[in-house]
Amino acid sequence: MSETPRSDATSDLISSAYRQALEVIEGVEPRVAAATRQELADQRGSLKLIASENYASPAVLLTMGTWFSDKYAEGTVGHRFYAGCQNVDTVEALAAEHARELFGAPYAYAQPHSGIDANLVAFWSILAHRVETPALEKHSVKNVNELSEGDWETLRAELGNQRLLGMSLDAGGHLTHGFRPNISGKMFHQQQYGTDPETGLLDYDAVAAKAREFRPLILIAGYSAYPRRVNFAKMREIADEVGATLMVDMAHFAGLVAGKVFTGDEDPVPHAHVVTTTTHKSLRGPRGGLVLAQEEFASSVDRGCPMVLGGPLSHVMAAKAVALAEARQPSFQDYAQRIADNAKSLAEGLMKRGVTLVTDGTDNHIVLLDVGSFGITGRQAESALLDAGVVTNRNSVPADPNGAWYTSGVRIGTPALTTRGFGADEFDKVAELMVDVLANTTPGTTSAGAPSKASYTLGDGVADRVRAASAELLDANPLYPGLDLG
Ligand SMILES: *Cc1c(COP(=O)(O)O)cnc(C)c1O
Repeated sequence: MSETPRSDATSDLISSAYRQALEVIEGVEPRVAAATRQELADQRGSLKLIASENYASPAVLLTMGTWFSDKYAEGTVGHRFYAGCQNVDTVEALAAEHARELFGAPYAYAQPHSGIDANLVAFWSILAHRVETPALEKHSVKNVNELSEGDWETLRAELGNQRLLGMSLDAGGHLTHGFRPNISGKMFHQQQYGTDPETGLLDYDAVAAKAREFRPLILIAGYSAYPRRVNFAKMREIADEVGATLMVDMAHFAGLVAGKVFTGDEDPVPHAHVVTTTTHKSLRGPRGGLVLAQEEFASSVDRGCPMVLGGPLSHVMAAKAVALAEARQPSFQDYAQRIADNAKSLAEGLMKRGVTLVTDGTDNHIVLLDVGSFGITGRQAESALLDAGVVTNRNSVPADPNGAWYTSGVRIGTPALTTRGFGADEFDKVAELMVDVLANTTPGTTSAGAPSKASYTLGDGVADRVRAASAELLDANPLYPGLDLG
C-alpha cells in the first residue's frame, strides 16, 4: 500500500510468489489464472468508490492461500470435535487476542464466515442468554422455502415472540436488521426506525419513543449507507431504559473504530452488549466476520458453532490475525483518519459543484449522493459512471421516489482509494470527474416512448475524458506498487 512503502526486495518477493502461484493454477485451469490476472488489472485501472470494499495487504491475501483451508476445526480453541487442531488453535487464539486488544473488548469470536453470519451468531447468543427455551427441536422441519406465514408465526411464538428494532433499509440500515424478507425479519417481530425526513439525521428521541412503545429484546444500531456518526452512549441509554440488549453492527465502519477516529460515545465497543463486524470493509482484512461481546455473552457466542456455523474457515481466521495485527500498528490510525478527511474533501467537492448529498455532508467514510437533480435515477448514474471507469453502487435515499431497484441515490466511500494513497486533492478531482459524468448523462426512453429509469445516454467523449483523467490519478497512486505479474 502506498502508506506503507515496501523495499524493492519485498516487492520482488511478492511478485515472484504470485507469478509462481499463477503458473501452478494455469497448469490446472488456465481460465481461472487468466481471470485472476484480469481482476488485478481491472482493480488497478478503475476508481473504486464502493464504500464497502478495500484492498487487503499482500500479507493478508497470501495468508488465505494455505493448507489451513484443508483443516476441519468445529468447536472452540482447545475444545475441538476433530483431532489435530493445535495450529488452528494458535491462529484462532491470535485473531481473538488481537481483536480484544485492538477494540478493547472483553471477548472476541473469530469464526463467523461473513457479516451476516456474525449477526446470526449474535441473534442466537442473545436469545440463548436472555430467553428461557427456544424450543425449535419440537417441530419437524420443512423445506424453509415452503414455510408459510403461519409457520413463521409459530416459530416466532416458540421463541417467545421476541422483538427486534433496527434501522430501516431505506434510511441506511442493513437487511439483517429486521428487513421483512430476511431471516431477521421473520424470526423476530420487527420494527424499524428511520431518519428525520428534513435533515436525514438519526433522531434519538424518535428512536427512544419507538423503543418505549415496542419494547424490543434487541435494539440494533449500525448501518451500511448512513453518512454520519452514531452516538452509541445514547443508544445504550435507550436500550437500558426499555430492557433491551444493545447490538451494534459496525461492519462498515470497524476501521474507523480500530483507527480511533470514533472514540468516546462514538466507539460502540464500551457501550454495546454485543458488537458484530465484517473484517473486509474499512478494517481492510480478509472476507469474514467477527463478534465482540461483554463477558456475560461470551459462553453463548462461543456456541455459534454448532448453532449457526459449521467448520470455521481456518485459513481466513489466520488472515484475520494478520490483518488485526496490521490494524494495531500506529500507521492504521493515520489511515483511518485519512479515510474520514478524504470523505470530507469528496463531499465538499461534490457540494461546491452543486450535487445534493443526503444529510448535506459526511462525518464518516460514506457519501450518499441524491442524483434526482440531474434528472436521472441511481441506476442510470451507476451505469454511466461505470462506463467512465468509476465504480460505485446505486442506493436508495430516504423516501426514495424511484424505489429500491432504480433508486435516486449513489453511495460512495473512501476506504479503498485511501489505501491506494489518494489524499484530499485527489478526492476533489474525483468529485469533479463524477460531476462531469452525471451532468452529461440523460435518461433514455422506453420502447413505448416513456422516460426510462434504466437506459441513458452519456455525452460524446465524456467517458474517454474521465478515464484519461482518472488514469493520471491511478498511475500516481499505484495499487500494490511493485507487484508485477510479468
Ligand atoms: C456488509 C454488511 C453486512 C454483511 O456482511 P457480509 O460479509 O456481506 O455478509 C452486515 N451488516 C452490515 C451493516 C453491513 O454493512
